[in-house]
Amino acid sequence: MKAMSFQGKVALVTGSSRGIGRAIAGGLAARGARLALNHPGDDADRARVAADAIRAEGGEAEVFPADVSHPGEVRRMMEGILGRYGGIDIAVNNAGICPFRSLFDITPEEWDRVLEVNTRGIFLVSQAAARAMVERGGGGRIVNVTSISGLRVTDPRQIAYSTSKAAANMLTRCLAVALASHGITVNAVLPGTIPTDINAAVLSDPSVVRAITDATPLGSLGSPGDVVSAVLYLASDDASWVTGSLLVVDGGYVA
Ligand code: NAP
Repeated sequence: MKAMSFQGKVALVTGSSRGIGRAIAGGLAARGARLALNHPGDDADRARVAADAIRAEGGEAEVFPADVSHPGEVRRMMEGILGRYGGIDIAVNNAGICPFRSLFDITPEEWDRVLEVNTRGIFLVSQAAARAMVERGGGGRIVNVTSISGLRVTDPRQIAYSTSKAAANMLTRCLAVALASHGITVNAVLPGTIPTDINAAVLSDPSVVRAITDATPLGSLGSPGDVVSAVLYLASDDASWVTGSLLVVDGGYVA
């Protein structure tokens, strides 16, 4: 087992202004990675605070705003990262949205938006990152933060979300096969429920929390740190023979 160091590696984490993405960025930076933070750009302060926190710890971080579902913005983001750091070694596709809407409430526009951000976003960012990795040679790592909701229906109001995450799981495998000959591995982490802004309203109901923890063999909700550990492993040299895998991190919920 090699020491899990990311010294000098350039890592992009999409959706890293808060929540799980911010924790992943912090975990990579603490182990020496040079961070490209990202968010859609409509709340610049939050991302700037995240970058400042990494710099205050002695790390390197810069914010590259982009809506991951927008090809032009993703292209500009990647140009910015390559201009600033000269390359990219690790891309973590973490950005995601999850409106809770039942079958008869969700509009076609909301449906499209969820699939645009959660699935097309991974495709666009992976394509741009992989192009840069292939051009430079030397391989790379792509890690997608999908969800156990892509394996089974965890909440009927996540109809678009679950579909987008199931597609993201399959996209992970497609990318793994497409990029294997270039030494680029592609894997996914599938978290269970982790309290963040994305589910704060739903989890404010104690009966919802109780139902989830009762159905979780390890008996608790997760934390962003649980996801960080899994992402760090898949992004590390230790995982050099792991690709196309879907790593469930959910306290046993789907077991
Ligand atoms: P969160 O706290 O709501 O954070 C979402 C992040 O994504 C924010 O940084 C947000 O930026 C960014 N984002 C949203 N739309 C974007 C876009 N179009 N382009 C770029 N960035 C965008 O959610 P979270 O819980 O940390 O979720 C992170 C990932 O984990 C998501 O993919 C989610 O589906 C997945 N996940 C979460 C859970 C859970 O229970 N929390 C479980 C399974 C999977 P702004 O701050 O600017 O809005």
